[in-house]
Amino acid sequence: MRQVKTRISTPMMITQRVPLSLDNVTKCMCPQCPVQSGSRCSSNKMMNIKAALAKNPLQKEDIPGVYCSTGVPACTDLNPKKACICGSCDVFKNYKLNNSLPNEYYCRDGMSR
Ligand code: SF4
Ligand code: SF4
Repeated sequence: MRQVKTRISTPMMITQRVPLSLDNVTKCMCPQCPVQSGSRCSSNKMMNIKAALAKNPLQKEDIPGVYCSTGVPACTDLNPKKACICGSCDVFKNYKLNNSLPNEYYCRDGMSR
């Protein structure tokens, strides 16, 4: 009997390099970044950051940063014409994000993969 080979295609997986952890949120430089310093939406989240950090697990919609982990934020009033400061961040160094794409402006271009 003739065997028929079938090709099984697997869906492309997007893997998250950086976990949304308390340690990474603490190290994240996004709250000091000019791109979001004028964002009212991000400022409102910062005002509630203590309550947000008490949640387990952390909820990405509460955290105004670590976009290398969580991707493009719901806040739409960031200004990507200003300079991204991810390169000065310890999370960036620890996860060697210079070796991945995108490697800056995660709030605009999505999470590191
Ligand atoms: S690399 Fe950028 S987005 Fe990721 S934690 Fe650091 S400052 Fe935030
Ligand atoms: S991802 Fe980069 S550009 Fe966006 S807020 Fe964070 S440091 Fe600024």
